[in-house]
Amino acid sequence: MVEECFNVRQGVLHVENVSCLELVKKYGTPLYVTSMKALNSNMDSYFRAFEKANFKVRFLYAVKANNNLTLLKLIARKGFGADVFSDGELYMALLSGFEKSYVLFNGNSKSDEEIKMGVEAGVPFSVDSIDELYAISQIARDLNREVKIAFRINPDISPETHPKIATGLKTSKFGIPWKDAVSAYELAVKCPNVRVSGIHCHIGSQITDTTPFVEAIERMFEVAEEVEKLGADLDFIDIGGGLGIDYEGKGVPAVEDFADRIIPAFEKGLEKIKSQPELWIEPGRSIVGNTTILLTRVNAVKKAYRNFVAVDAGFNLLIRPAMYDAYHRVAVANKMDRPPEEVYTVVGPICESGDILAKDRKLPKIEKGDIIAVFDTGAYGFSMSSQYNGRRRCAELLVNGEKVYVTRERERYSDLIANQIVPAELF
Ligand SMILES: *Cc1c(COP(=O)(O)O)cnc(C)c1O
Repeated sequence: MVEECFNVRQGVLHVENVSCLELVKKYGTPLYVTSMKALNSNMDSYFRAFEKANFKVRFLYAVKANNNLTLLKLIARKGFGADVFSDGELYMALLSGFEKSYVLFNGNSKSDEEIKMGVEAGVPFSVDSIDELYAISQIARDLNREVKIAFRINPDISPETHPKIATGLKTSKFGIPWKDAVSAYELAVKCPNVRVSGIHCHIGSQITDTTPFVEAIERMFEVAEEVEKLGADLDFIDIGGGLGIDYEGKGVPAVEDFADRIIPAFEKGLEKIKSQPELWIEPGRSIVGNTTILLTRVNAVKKAYRNFVAVDAGFNLLIRPAMYDAYHRVAVANKMDRPPEEVYTVVGPICESGDILAKDRKLPKIEKGDIIAVFDTGAYGFSMSSQYNGRRRCAELLVNGEKVYVTRERERYSDLIANQIVPAELF
């Protein structure tokens, strides 16, 4: 169980068998720390939950959630495919050993250079527009290749999640409106060097109700029936990712509950069509989200309008609270056995009022030097980090039992000015 990977011994938070205090002493703060056992456990849950399906299932990890190379390699080695959304993510996925036929090249705005890179790599594409379809066909013809494609279909489904991460609404920028799906496929089957291979959708992220996924599957199969009439043989139906995790400790559907809704819906759909497509699922957050904590040191405690705790990590390292009003549990890593006493607001070092990591939390009495742990920061944490305010990105660690690996070093000051060219003749 993932919860056991973050445990308390003598009042100190541990990641597996390693004390967080030892980690910050040796590696400094801020610090992202990932439990390898938690990562494996999350991947195993997916395999276990879908074991009972009588059709083939493939998991494509959404690289954007966390693109740490060590994690990517562990995920690839486990037999996952990858969902990539840019040339850079494609580069990292290929470098990490993901099997090419299960690296789906997503993206709503691919440049011709990106398309060329994907065609040369031989990966399947999720196509977001007719312009992209024609560009792929042209580039594939020039390179004398055949490209497997799916269209990203916008199923017009509204999951209850933050508006910034609902991607399957009719108003969203992603995909082809599902009413236009068949006409898009009609064009695709006639396109040279393109082979219609699948149907793709992704309805959003941090979804904690399984019903929208079932609705999406029903819509995908309605499209599949029509696509088959065009003579296409479907290899996969990809329902995207988006299963939420339990940030607030209130209970959300487990991967198993998700599978128990998805499997029957998919089986019902398969009865309607002739081909035997695989089910593809693209989890990101639910693979890496709860595997990682962010450790940050208290620089100052101050009573002002609120009871502020100023720490050394801000939205430069974890933008979710500022960007999505996201909630992350926090704890005082060196005072885990002390009772909550006061209400604090944990703020970062960035020169922005919105740089708040956690608002109004009841915590043990906090002093300068304490270590705050921010939980569930493995997804959309480091991967959305920046150097804003001239802050170097922090190190990342991987813990496996007693073993600690530095998987990314803290940036150097020189990284803050990397690639800049100061015109010599001006000085
Ligand atoms: C972001 C994204 C995912 C992963 O979503 P999670 O909520 O992290 O599971 C999957 N597929 C596509 C196309 C995405 O854009």
